Amino acid sequence: MDLQALLDDIAHDSAPFAAQGRVADYIPALAAVDPAQFGIALATMDGQLLGSGDWRSPFSIQSVSKAFSLALVLARDGESLWQRVGREPSGNPFNSLVQLEYEKGIPRNPFINAGALILIDRLLSLTGDSLGTLQAFLRAESGNAAVEVDAEVAASEAAHGHRNAALAHFMASCGNLENPVEVVLDHYVRQCSLTMSCGDLAKAGLFLANHGLLADGSRLLTRSEAKRINAIMLTCGTYDAAGDFAYRVGLPGKSGVGGGILAVLPERGILCVWSPALDAHGNSLAGVEALDRFTTRTGWSVF
Ligand code: GLU
Repeated sequence: MDLQALLDDIAHDSAPFAAQGRVADYIPALAAVDPAQFGIALATMDGQLLGSGDWRSPFSIQSVSKAFSLALVLARDGESLWQRVGREPSGNPFNSLVQLEYEKGIPRNPFINAGALILIDRLLSLTGDSLGTLQAFLRAESGNAAVEVDAEVAASEAAHGHRNAALAHFMASCGNLENPVEVVLDHYVRQCSLTMSCGDLAKAGLFLANHGLLADGSRLLTRSEAKRINAIMLTCGTYDAAGDFAYRVGLPGKSGVGGGILAVLPERGILCVWSPALDAHGNSLAGVEALDRFTTRTGWSVF
C-alpha cells in the first residue's frame, strides 16, 4: 500500500469538512486560530514518519495530553488510581459539574476535565512537577526538544477557567485532592497549552501501539496497562461522542479542543490528525472524517 499517496488523498478529501465546524471559543486564544488548517501524520512501528497537509505545524494539544498523563500515572500507581477516578464514559460534556456532585467528587473517567485534574494532582504528589515530567516525556518520545507551553494560550485559559476551578474546589471539598487547588489548576492549564505537531504526537504515542514499550526499548507500561489505556481511549477518549467515534473510526482515540486527535493502530503505529474546527461535541470535524476514511480504506481498525 502506498501510504503517502493514501494520506495525501485523505487530506485532500477531508480538509474541506472544516468549513462545517467551529473553533473552540470558550478559550479566547483558541478562537483566534485559523480554522482552515488540516494535518495528518502516521508514525509506524518500523520507524517511518509520513504526513500530509499541515502535519508539521505546532498546535495546542489540549486534552490529547490526558492520554499521556494517564500513562505516566498508571505506570507509577497501578490499580490504586481507580480509587480516585472511575473508568466509565460520562455521557456528559467534558467540563460538566453536575455528575461530580452526585458521585461525591469521584470523576467518571480520567479524560473528562475533573478526571484529568486527579491525574495531575497525583503526578504532582509522585514527582513534584507534573508539567515538567510530562514535558520531558513528550520531548524524549517525540524527539523534539522544542515542545513548549504556549504562554498566551495558558494565560487565556487560566483567565477563563472558572469551571475547571469549580471542579477542582469541589473535589478538594470531598477530600479527593492532595495538592492545593491553585497548583493543580496551574499545571493543568499549562499542560493543555503545550504545543506539538501531528508528527510529534504520532511519534510520542507509539508506546500505546507497542504494548507499553518506549522508543529506546525500555518499558513504561506493562502489556496489560497499555491495553487498559487503549480501552479507556476507545470508551471515553472523544468526549460524549465516543460511541459515534468507535462506530465510524473503530480505533482508540483521544481528542482535544485544539482540534487534534491521536488514534492508536495497535501493533502498526499512531495516526494523528489536526484541524481546529470542531463538531458540537468538541471533536475535530475534518479530523474524525479523515480517521473514518483511513480505517475504511485500509481496514486497519480494532474491529
Ligand atoms: N483546557 C481545556 C479545558 O480545560 C481542555 C479541554 C479539552 O481539550 O477537552 O477546558
